[in-house]
Amino acid sequence: MKRLVLMGAGHAHLVVLKQWLREPLTDVELVLVTPSTWQYYSGMIPGWVAGHYSIDQCRIDAEALALAAGADIVLDTVEEIRADEKQVRLAGGELVDYNWLSIDIGAQTSVTSLRGYTGSLLSIKPLEQFHERWSRVQERPASEVLHCALVGGGAAGAELAMAFAYAGRTGASAPIEVSLITGHQGLLPGFRPCIRKLARRKLKRLGVHVIEQRAEAVGPLLTLTDGASMRPDLVVAVTGSEAFPFLKSSGLAVDAEGFVLVNEHQQSLSHPEVFAVGDVCSRSDRALNRSGVHAIRAAPALAANLRAATNAGEFATFQPRPYTLYLISCGDRSAIGCYGPLAFSGRWVWRLKDKIDRGFVEGF
Ligand SMILES: Cc1cc2nc3c(=O)[nH]c(=O)nc-3n(C[C@H](O)[C@H](O)[C@H](O)COP(=O)(O)OP(=O)(O)OC[C@H]3O[C@@H](n4cnc5c(N)ncnc54)[C@H](O)[C@@H]3O)c2cc1C
Repeated sequence: MKRLVLMGAGHAHLVVLKQWLREPLTDVELVLVTPSTWQYYSGMIPGWVAGHYSIDQCRIDAEALALAAGADIVLDTVEEIRADEKQVRLAGGELVDYNWLSIDIGAQTSVTSLRGYTGSLLSIKPLEQFHERWSRVQERPASEVLHCALVGGGAAGAELAMAFAYAGRTGASAPIEVSLITGHQGLLPGFRPCIRKLARRKLKRLGVHVIEQRAEAVGPLLTLTDGASMRPDLVVAVTGSEAFPFLKSSGLAVDAEGFVLVNEHQQSLSHPEVFAVGDVCSRSDRALNRSGVHAIRAAPALAANLRAATNAGEFATFQPRPYTLYLISCGDRSAIGCYGPLAFSGRWVWRLKDKIDRGFVEGF
């Protein structure tokens, strides 16, 4: 039987598997390769840090889903793609042949700017590792104040900084002093000034020290653009994402940053039997932000195209909507949101985000 390998249990693959529960793929051996039984839902991780959710509310049992959808599951990580040979090599050394490959592995946290840092460093991704390590940090005595510096001023960095500060204040975490070092582009680059202003106000109210400068790592110190330096107990890297290095040597067409190049069908430009979706890819026909929302929205087209490729049917196009709803949680059960030209904030925005996020996870 011909084999379709799903690489990674990212957002889109979860939705695709859920669809195949209802309408199974026939005459194809399905294999999911994923490093963990659990797929963590990033949108709820700041809420877990803040103490609003248990970890089980923030993760999906990818293994159970895959098995129910008729897939074999391999708990391992793909370390190499040999696109010309239609093969992937797993970390355990095994070679897996495929007829079709679908890649939904996200991207890794870019820690280039923190290279050389010799202190304690925690990256936000992979989320399963973040969960494990942050849980261990939480085991410190309640009398010990943790000086934590988050590096990265995007939405994830801002959300986490507010979640840390809120958890420290409310007792969900042992005491914590939070600094947010945004980089030279400042807080929430790419967002409108009113959103940035709202976020600055919220961060200040929670006692987060926002430093809109670039940090360089020198041994155990972080040196800032103005020459000042700090020695935090823990640095959390929320420094944006970069492509996994092994994609460049896969034989697949990639863009200048090493992300897999795909067309409007989420199909590789160089190897038509390969599909890629979510943060791992770049569309050749349009620029698209890397976000979970786009990964989820691309899933129906991916499901249709994998069916068309392996069985029969029409190829579908993923046509992103002109605007995306961005919701930034502020730790204290309020949130800031924007949709195109509209900006809004308050407790109702958090309730909306909570409903959307929980609805997604509970749907599995
Ligand atoms: C704190 C935080 C909050 C966020 N909040 C939001 C939000 O509210 N809304 C939003 O739209 N976006 C949000 N994002 C961005 C969002 O997390 C990503 O854009 C999204 O996860 C991308 O989805 P994906 O399907 O591409 O991959 P991912 O969700 O990253 O999933 C990839 C999966 O593949 C696995 N994997 C990785 N490498 C391999 C390999 N070599 N072999 C096999 N498996 C592999 C990983 O373990 C993971 O399970 C947030 C990000 C962070 C860090």
